[in-house]
Amino acid sequence: MKHVVIIGAGMGGLATALQLRYKGFRVTVLEKQARPGGRSNIIQERGFRVDIGPTILVMKDEFERTYRAFGEDINQRLDFIQLDPNYRIYYHDGTHLDLYSNMAQLAEEIEKVEPGSRERLFRFIGAGARKYELGMDFVDRNFDAITDLANPIAGMRLWQTQAHQNLYAQVAGFFNHNDKLTKAFSFHSMFLGLSPFDALAMYSLITYADLALGMWYPRGGIYRIIEDMVELSEKMGVEIRTNSPVDQICIEQQRVTGVRLASGEFIPADLVISNADLPYTYRKLIDPTHRPHFPDRKIERMQYACSGYILYLGVDKVYPHARHQALYFSADYRANLDAIFKTYTLPAEPSFHLNIPTVSDPSLAPPGHSLIYVLAPMPNLQADIDWEQSAPIVRNQLLGTLEKLIDPEIRRHIVWERQYLPTDWETDVNATLGTAFGSLAQGFFQSSYFRPHNKDRHIRGLYFVGQGTYPGIGMPMVMISSRLVTERVVSEWQ
Ligand SMILES: Cc1cc2nc3c(=O)[nH]c(=O)nc-3n(C[C@H](O)[C@H](O)[C@H](O)COP(=O)(O)OP(=O)(O)OC[C@H]3O[C@@H](n4cnc5c(N)ncnc54)[C@H](O)[C@@H]3O)c2cc1C
Repeated sequence: MKHVVIIGAGMGGLATALQLRYKGFRVTVLEKQARPGGRSNIIQERGFRVDIGPTILVMKDEFERTYRAFGEDINQRLDFIQLDPNYRIYYHDGTHLDLYSNMAQLAEEIEKVEPGSRERLFRFIGAGARKYELGMDFVDRNFDAITDLANPIAGMRLWQTQAHQNLYAQVAGFFNHNDKLTKAFSFHSMFLGLSPFDALAMYSLITYADLALGMWYPRGGIYRIIEDMVELSEKMGVEIRTNSPVDQICIEQQRVTGVRLASGEFIPADLVISNADLPYTYRKLIDPTHRPHFPDRKIERMQYACSGYILYLGVDKVYPHARHQALYFSADYRANLDAIFKTYTLPAEPSFHLNIPTVSDPSLAPPGHSLIYVLAPMPNLQADIDWEQSAPIVRNQLLGTLEKLIDPEIRRHIVWERQYLPTDWETDVNATLGTAFGSLAQGFFQSSYFRPHNKDRHIRGLYFVGQGTYPGIGMPMVMISSRLVTERVVSEWQ
């Protein structure tokens, strides 16, 4: 039986482990942290259970397909709640807009902002559907040669949808240049580490996926998925070793022989799949003599995604008027994005993602309490920001805005609090430059065929899974990545 070692028990590592075990491989997963999950980890303290990173999922069908690939039905194992509205958008002028998945309700909402925009919304959604179809042609497949990109139908769709245009400008065209609606229908590219002012219009496919395919939350939080995969690993015979950081991928004659742990232990393997950040894996785990095709200067030239500051609050109060999920757009939205993506400076007034999961799932906090998660996108560690000094400033700004949006007395009600800094992503999961959602920004030249591939063609037996390889960032993409690498490994090693 071939032995596969997987470096990292992130969602991608676990999903691949289960699929390969199901196909008959012996699988060992080595995780540096004390608990599996990677970016999808958890803090459990004082009766609060908070997801550290991802909080909601879209493209639920990708999770269903992945579970089916190891013989399980995710809907039988976890209890999903559909959020509707998906988000409440708070604007700095005190107004708000609810983004519903229900199209009739959504149309009603946006009519209040810009009368006559109903028709424009339907046209925008239709164009989003075509971009989604176009995108999936390049997302759900392994690439071997650049000619794999040649696809006449996709070319026609690209032309029809003008997906190569600028995202913000194209969305503005749909909504009569109404600033509020343009922001509400274009911010999603930030989840891929791209400013909507710089991203391709192609990425309104994420907005489409959010609105048309729905937004889901597993009761108990995203970490329930990790817990479930760990439980299945035990049942199916996948070995997961935590507190086991890998120090080196061992290679002889350009062929993987195993890995060496930081403890010095050597673990032999027929093949190694790294779920750790891809640029980190090349730079830190593979001796430069084995990778003239992937030198440090190539790693340095790559475009890296943004990071984030997160504040987690437990408060002794409930907020029935609040939504499970919201966004706040600061007064100078453009300056905020430029600080994150262009000037690498601390934003003067941060925009943020607000998640209050206890609105739908009170089990995450003691009775009568709420859990509040505030994620403010920040520049990655290329920025010269001293986080020890800056964190209290950002915390104070975020609390100041929460006083306006949620509760003027919120500070008095905080009974538990934690934060997560850009430096923590680097320390905890070896995220290159402390990048949060994923390491490599998803610009055109770091997407599909142009993103690093899931197989190293110069080192036999070395593969990748997760956000660093294709298709890219976010849990649904990571699910697809796990299926693609499994397909490759099975076809080449079985
Ligand atoms: C704040 C935040 C919010 C997000 N929100 C969402 C969301 O709402 N929806 C969504 O779909 N996505 C979201 N994402 C993105 C999503 O979480 C990630 O894209 C996805 O979880 C990445 O999974 P992965 O398997 O590729 O890798 P990771 O989760 O990065 O896992 C990699 C694993 O490798 C381990 N590792 C690293 N180096 C070593 C080593 N040397 N030895 C052993 N182990 C090692 C790490 O500890 C880690 O466990 C969010 C991310 C963040 C950070």
